[in-house]
Amino acid sequence: MRCKYCQTEDIKPSGSVNGRKLVKCNNCKHRFMENDSLPKMRVNKHVIVSAINLYYEGLSVRKVSRQLSEIFGEKVSQMTVWKWLQKYSKLVSGYVKTLSPQLSGKWHHDETVIRCDGRNEWFWEMIDEDTRFLVASLLSQDRTLKDTIEVFRKALETSKQRPQALFVDGSHTYDRAFNKVFYTRYKVNRVELVKRVGIRARETNNMVERLHETLKERTKIMRGFKNEDSAKLILEGYAINYNYARPHLSLKGKTPAQEAGIEVKGWKTLIENAIQNETIGTQANTQRAVEAVQVVQ
Ligand SMILES: [Zn+2]
Repeated sequence: MRCKYCQTEDIKPSGSVNGRKLVKCNNCKHRFMENDSLPKMRVNKHVIVSAINLYYEGLSVRKVSRQLSEIFGEKVSQMTVWKWLQKYSKLVSGYVKTLSPQLSGKWHHDETVIRCDGRNEWFWEMIDEDTRFLVASLLSQDRTLKDTIEVFRKALETSKQRPQALFVDGSHTYDRAFNKVFYTRYKVNRVELVKRVGIRARETNNMVERLHETLKERTKIMRGFKNEDSAKLILEGYAINYNYARPHLSLKGKTPAQEAGIEVKGWKTLIENAIQNETIGTQANTQRAVEAVQVVQ
């Protein structure tokens, strides 16, 4: 058995609470119940992982709740499913930011307008051509320079590397945002802005259509969100599901992340790694605090 927090195997019995056995980790010092659940959760982790999987594969929260009862015999309210989605999408979103995908550097940008709770919203996304890795996605109320810059910056943050070329739709102007984010006066690392017009547009048409397929799927999930913050969080979760959990047909069953050299796959591993990452981060902070106190003394 491994520690729920830091994944090391150095654990020992440590008393009990209400007749249930506790163990303590010698590495991170956490004390927890010896069962197959995530830290501070009552429900088995397979139930939580399944809920997250089912939701991001397109089931509504109501249907997820019903499926959990049918598959696991667990009564889980819609509110609880909703809380899990928010909690673990946020946790894993922080963790995947620490990973560095190896991308082809040919980024395809697209955006589409959708009806969201009675008003129009913009959906933006940028996909790396060879790996199909989703480097950025965004939900915004307008299509302004500021929004465009935000998408471009997000993509740079995710990839941690400048692309070779950025492919955009020829019908909208991206030059200002592009220059703001990607311009360099040096000859190396120069990014090419390619507008999809004429022959070029026909050549990349298939690619763009496939992009739109994923976009359409996503908008199905995003509809009906009243709260902008939760919509954004769920969008991040969807991006994680797309990059790290779902096998891609054109990648011979691999995920875009695997194609980009990251072996981490599926929500279970993502959540475990995220918790481990957080624990190690806390440990390091504590250690630094201790050292700081010692220096002062
Ligand atoms: Zn531990």
